[in-house]
Amino acid sequence: MIMDLHTHTHHSPDAQDTVAERVEKANTLGLRIMAITDHCELNHYYPAEYYGETPSARVMHNGRQTFEGSVEETLAMQSRCGDLLLLCGTELGQIPQEPMIAKTLYEDPRIDFAIGSIHELPGMEDFYFLDYPSLCIRDLITQYFDEVLRVAQSDFYDVLAHLTYGLRYLPDRAGYDLTPHLPVIEEIFRAVIAKDKALEFNGSGLKAELQYTDPDLFLLRKYRELGGKRITLSTDTHAKEYLAYRMNDLEQLARELGFTHVTYYQKHKPVEIPL
Ligand SMILES: [Zn+2]
Ligand SMILES: [Zn+2]
Repeated sequence: MIMDLHTHTHHSPDAQDTVAERVEKANTLGLRIMAITDHCELNHYYPAEYYGETPSARVMHNGRQTFEGSVEETLAMQSRCGDLLLLCGTELGQIPQEPMIAKTLYEDPRIDFAIGSIHELPGMEDFYFLDYPSLCIRDLITQYFDEVLRVAQSDFYDVLAHLTYGLRYLPDRAGYDLTPHLPVIEEIFRAVIAKDKALEFNGSGLKAELQYTDPDLFLLRKYRELGGKRITLSTDTHAKEYLAYRMNDLEQLARELGFTHVTYYQKHKPVEIPL
């Protein structure tokens, strides 16, 4: 297995395991490249008090602390990984809401690369917590892809993560018709391609009852047709049981769609590995 480029450790409020435990598991599996990319929600970068809020399990406050802890623990492990290449990454949530903090973290010389994500829309909670029956789903998803486009057009990411996260918790995710959103999705792909960034092929949905990939195969094919060549493979795991989970399947699907290599980043420089 080549890579798992999106993983969370105990530094993320919703995940477990130390970096050392993940390294041990990766070596057991024979994984070649693993990136630690803990959550840094930029719109909650400081403690709750800074924003006049109370700490809550529903909000990942203090992204700054998560970033520092995760980076330091990862760097300390890099020389003790055996054959594994351990990359130091971060998952920057909501780049359009805090572009200046994003720039500072992106340029932090300790990290290899940054994943750009949208988990929340301005003034709203994470999609996981939304009360869907009270919302206009079409407007919500329109707003979601507009935010993702702003990430794609920014300079403070290397990999665009889980393109369809905004759909993940919809009551009828599999039945939602993306047709009206295809123009903006194509615009997102064009921005990623023009900036020579990578699109993440995220397999976290492969452990769900109704299995799916993010993006789905139709959208990933479209990315390729538009000239997209750079993809990363990831599980977005939050526990070691799912590290590199079904990675062979993800590799095979990517090959079948015509991708000839996968990409990882060292100090923001893309490195290609044949598939
Ligand atoms: Zn994410
Ligand atoms: Zn993640």
